[in-house]
Amino acid sequence: MSNVHNFQRSLHPSTDLLQQEWSQFNRFHCQGTYPCPVCRHGKVAEMPLMETFACSFCQHIFTTNFDKQLLKMADSQLPLTWYWNGKVWKGIYREGSQVGVVYILLAIAFVLIPTAIIALGVYLFPPMNGSLLSWLPLMWTILTFCAHLFCVIWLIIEYYQFPIFLYVRAIKRKLLSSMSLS
Ligand SMILES: [Zn+2]
Repeated sequence: MSNVHNFQRSLHPSTDLLQQEWSQFNRFHCQGTYPCPVCRHGKVAEMPLMETFACSFCQHIFTTNFDKQLLKMADSQLPLTWYWNGKVWKGIYREGSQVGVVYILLAIAFVLIPTAIIALGVYLFPPMNGSLLSWLPLMWTILTFCAHLFCVIWLIIEYYQFPIFLYVRAIKRKLLSSMSLS
C-alpha cells in the first residue's frame, strides 16, 4: 500500500512537469505566429514595436491576454474574443448567445414573409395572359426574396467581420498569377 503511495507521489511531479512543458510549448505567446481566427487564411503575429497582434491577410488588429490565452478583436465594435486551446482558436460566445435561435427565426421571417405577401398577391390577382408586363409579378417576387436574403447575408458578414472582399481579391490575384504562368 505504501509502495503505491510512494509511486503515486513520485509520478505526480513528473507528469505535472510534462503537462506544464507541453502547455508551455503550445501556449499563445508574443513571439508566436498563429492562424487567423477571422479569415482562417492569414497568420496572426505581433506587430513590430506594438503590443497588438495583426493578421497578414485580413489586416484585423487584435489585443491579447497571454495569462488567459485570449485574443480579442480590437478594430471592431463587437466584442469578438477567441481562446487558444493549444491547437486552434475557440470562439468565446458572448452572454446572451442563447437568443441565437431567435435571430435565426427572425432572419427566416425577414426573408419569407415579404416574399409570401407578394407571392400571395400574385396568386390572388394574377396578371392577364399575354399582357406586356405579365412577367413582372413573378420577377418581383424573386427579386424580393433575393434582396431580403442579401440583407441577411450582409448582416452575417458584418457581424463576423468576414473579409469577403479580401477573399475575392486573393482569388483574383491567384487566377491572374496562374494565367501569367501558363
Ligand atoms: Zn485574418
